[in-house]
Parts: sequence; C-alpha cells; structure tokens
Amino acid sequence: MDRNNQIIRCNLRGKFKKELHLKKDKQFIIDPVAVGDHVKFNLNFDGSGTINYIYPRKNYISRKAVKSRGSSYRGERLEQIVASNLDNIFIVTSIDQPKFNNRLLDRIIVTGESAGISVKIIINKIDLDEDDYAMKWFNLYSSIGYKVFLTSVIEKKGVDQIKKILKNKKNLFWGISGVGKSSLLNLLFNSLNLNVGEISTANKKGKHTTVTSKMFYVDKNTFVIDTPGVREIDPYGITKENLSYYFVEFKPFLDDCKFNTCTHFHEPGCAVINAVETGIINQERYISYLNILATIEDNLYF
Ligand code: GDP
Ligand code: ZN
Repeated sequence: MDRNNQIIRCNLRGKFKKELHLKKDKQFIIDPVAVGDHVKFNLNFDGSGTINYIYPRKNYISRKAVKSRGSSYRGERLEQIVASNLDNIFIVTSIDQPKFNNRLLDRIIVTGESAGISVKIIINKIDLDEDDYAMKWFNLYSSIGYKVFLTSVIEKKGVDQIKKILKNKKNLFWGISGVGKSSLLNLLFNSLNLNVGEISTANKKGKHTTVTSKMFYVDKNTFVIDTPGVREIDPYGITKENLSYYFVEFKPFLDDCKFNTCTHFHEPGCAVINAVETGIINQERYISYLNILATIEDNLYF
C-alpha cells in the first residue's frame, strides 16, 4: 500500500532473497518481508513495484515455520514472521466448532507477550455456548488483566466495542482456522467481503499451501490483518528462562523464588508454585506454562 493506501503489487529485489533469506544470528527467517512492514520501493513502468528497502520493525510476531502437512522443521530454528509494526493483537477463539482450547490460547498469548504487543482476546460463537462455559473463561482472562470480548457473528453480538479499540491502529486478527476471524472482520467492516469458511482444495489434499495474511485499510489510519488458513501456532524464540515473564500474572512472584534460576517446575521454595497452591495463580494457566516449558526442553530448539 502506498501513502494514499493504494495497493501496489511488489516484488522483492533479488538481493533480499540472498541476504535476508537468511542466516542472521544462526536463525533462519522464511520470508524477508512481512505483512505490516514499511518498505521503500521503485515504481516500474508497468505500475508494479520493486522493494529495495525494509525499514526496521517497531515489533513483530513470529511463529515456528510450518513445513508441509503441519510438521515443524524439527531441530532447526526457522522463524516465520506473521506480521509486523502492530498495535493490537486480537486473538480469536471460538467456544465451539472448533472447541475452545485454553492451552492453545495460552500459547498464542505467549507469542504476543513476547513481542511486547497489546493482546486482546475474542471468544466467538457464544451462540453455541452451553452452561455459561464462555463466562468461566471470560472471568479467568479478565482477572489476569486481559480485555476479553464475547462475540457472536450470527447474533451480531459484542463487536461494537471491538470497533472502538481498532481505531487508528494496526490490528492483527490471529487464531486457528474456523474460529470466525473472517466472519468477524466482515461484520465489523461490511465492505471487506472476505471469504468465509473456505478451506482451499490444496489444503484438503494435504498439500502445502502458503498462508497469505492480508492487510486491509478499513478506516482512517486503521488497518486490520486477516490470517486465513492457520492450522498451527507455535511460539518462536521462547526460552526456559524467559517463558514465565509472558505469563503476566506470574510476574509479581518471580523475584521471590528461592533460586534465581528457578523454572517454577519442581524447585523448592518456588513462589510461583506457592501462588498456585494458594489459588492466587490459576491452575489452568500454570498447567499451560508447564506444557510450554516441556516443549521447549523436548524439542531442543533453543
Ligand atoms: P476463519 O477461518 O477464522 O476466518 O473463520 P470463518 O470466518 O471462515 O468462519 C468459519 C465458520 O464459522 C463459518 O462457517 C462461519 O459461518 C462460522 N461462524 C463464524 N462466526 C460464527 C458465530 O459467531 N457463530 C456460529 N455459530 N458460527 C460462526
Ligand atoms: Zn519459581
């Protein structure tokens, strides 16, 4: 998009493919340029552009790159930048179809927190809710300090507030396929007309398809990024040492552990474990923490 928010189709100058494709601090980055990047480009005769500079990113979120059929590149550090220069991340989940998965939500939260970007949570499809299940999760994440929205696209509920928070910001809508990201964005901005509920045929056959996130200019200074076709979200670059900082409600306890190398797993005198036992930290969140901690150790990514 140029300064007037016109879309200009761009290619990357060859040097990026060589220089950035990429071995930087022994980390591999899948794509040198990401949605949300600010770039310089030359305008070609045919109206297309050639990107020759990518400005430093204010922030970005990334995940472990996914190989074909959903398996990660085991043992390698492959980073895929999902989007950059963000003001908000709306993590979209659904209460059912697909079933609400707090472990997955916590993994995505960690990704957002590690990038230092404001995280908001949307629990969609509350029309499918039974027994106030959604309210239970609303209460948990609100008590931690997250802004949580309960929405139903079908019943057109809960989206007005979201619209206010989006304004003058660059907003990422992130979550696995099927939770209703595109449907929500269509309801928020009628003109968008995004495809809903479509899984590409290539995907169904299990072939590798590139997930193409797209940014849309929806209002003055306001952008939304849709991320269709996401099957897996695994945080990238999280270490055993820093993981606990991305569980924000753990923070007040981290200095009180007996050992300053405490991973809050089984160490004696652990203030986090103590807070879990006394009910100050929610057990579900602690289990998520332990699960992620175990993944970091098992896969030897770091
Ligand atoms: P995305 O993959 O996250 O972009 O999800 P889509 O927007 O494509 O929606 C996936 C499916 O969920 C579609 O069949 C939608 O009609 C349906 N859906 C979206 N929002 C809701 C909702 O609030 N309630 C119900 N019952 N279905 C919804
Ligand atoms: Zn501890």
